[in-house]
Amino acid sequence: MALFIAKPDLEELRQHGEETYPFECCGVLLGRVDDVGGKRVHEVVRCSNQRTESPHNRYFIDPRELVGIQRRAHERELDIVGFYHSHPQHPARWSATDLEEAHWPGCSYVITSVMNGVATQTNSFDLVAEGESKSFQNEELHVE
Ligand SMILES: [Zn+2]
Repeated sequence: MALFIAKPDLEELRQHGEETYPFECCGVLLGRVDDVGGKRVHEVVRCSNQRTESPHNRYFIDPRELVGIQRRAHERELDIVGFYHSHPQHPARWSATDLEEAHWPGCSYVITSVMNGVATQTNSFDLVAEGESKSFQNEELHVE
């Protein structure tokens, strides 16, 4: 799979990570899955990081906030195609905790590294579920 995102939307989620530095930001990507399995982002929705314990390396989206976002997506005939968060002072690679807390197979998990308050690398990973196990696979991030 691949994730397609417009440059302003990419800048929006990267900027969010700079604003919340040195804490993690998090949010949801609304869009559509096309016929050949690519995911296209139509809207970036910011969430407040509800993780009060170590918000510098953990994130948590309030389920009630997520329900509201899902409702808004359906009204606009969009789906949740991914989630994003930032890694302050860490590389844009998923952690064991990220995998453990990822529950949406088929969705993209976008991670931006923020070094000294400046967004650097952004990578996308596809959550793949096989039976009981799940894994992250590197995913192409197409900026349009
Ligand atoms: Zn993470």
